[in-house]
Amino acid sequence: MKTNPILTIDIGALCKNWRMLCDSAPNAKPAAVVKADAYGTGATKTAAALYDAGCRNFFVANGAEGANIRPHVGDSNIFILNGIDEESVSLFNEHRLTPVISNFDALNIWKANRLPGIRPIIQIDTGLNRLGFHESELCKISDTDKSEFSYVMSHLACADEPGHPMNMAQLTRFESMRRFFPGLPATLSASNGNFLGPEFQFDMVRFGVALYGGLTAAGFKPAPVMNLSAPVLQIIDLQPGESVGYNATFVAKKKTRVAVLAVGYADGLPWYIRISGRGKVFFGNASAPIIGSVCMDLTMVDVSDLPSVKVGDCAEIIGNHYGVDDLGRDSGTISYELLCRIGGGKRAERIYIK
Ligand SMILES: *Cc1c(COP(=O)(O)O)cnc(C)c1O
Repeated sequence: MKTNPILTIDIGALCKNWRMLCDSAPNAKPAAVVKADAYGTGATKTAAALYDAGCRNFFVANGAEGANIRPHVGDSNIFILNGIDEESVSLFNEHRLTPVISNFDALNIWKANRLPGIRPIIQIDTGLNRLGFHESELCKISDTDKSEFSYVMSHLACADEPGHPMNMAQLTRFESMRRFFPGLPATLSASNGNFLGPEFQFDMVRFGVALYGGLTAAGFKPAPVMNLSAPVLQIIDLQPGESVGYNATFVAKKKTRVAVLAVGYADGLPWYIRISGRGKVFFGNASAPIIGSVCMDLTMVDVSDLPSVKVGDCAEIIGNHYGVDDLGRDSGTISYELLCRIGGGKRAERIYIK
């Protein structure tokens, strides 16, 4: 009998999402963002599958992440979002990594260590106020330096709120700041921005969360890629007045049948779900509410209405019935964080399916 959670990564669903996203932006080059171990799904396997599906542009956060995927993506472009520093120049050279240059420190390191055949991206800030050159700085970059870049890039702050005025404001800013880079291809949007309209797609779209099943704008439902399930270790019959778990936060009002699942916050299931009181898992098509606190290794659910559930059955924690966005909403976080923390857990048995 299993005593561990099972994390299934559905490579078929990933590739399906990739193809649907490519189709949604037919005039732009599609890029895959595989930073943070491909949002917890496993960067080497995910990047290899996306490469087989035709992806030739990858984004990761730093040089080590780029080096990690290089053997799996042929001679694709690997863009490094956090830029280049002195220590990583040799790594960039060895693995042919392309920096995204966002400030003069990185630009100066680049100019002192140009890598043959590599054309960096320049990032400009249009309102996110994270990384990127500000408009007042652009006149200080020489035309020769500008001619080395392959793309001008920016990033949206509020793309997951389609009605937010920041979206149009940043689009206008981006179009205006492009005048400093005549003729240079441009990339503005990630998953959510892509669905704000074709005018947000420019020459390349950087798809991240939507590849991994995070729900984006209305009309696009990616297939779930990360599926977490856990076996029932024990069934308990509670009498009215008996409590469940730490701090006795759940007290049975009537006879209650409880299933103890082999999954906890060490596997990425947020403890906070106790505060919302909205946590649930699925057995087949039927849901069972989480009761009491999520423990480090165990979680209890009410299966009073599911008399057929028995020891050894598996509960879906995230998957087709209850996705990462559902769990995110019910536990006070976002799909992005859940993908990273569930995928970052070291204990689940990990299975890749096609
Ligand atoms: C993470 C990231 C992306 C991908 O964003 P998603 O919302 O996951 O699609 C794209 N561009 C930049 C600059 C990022 O940091």
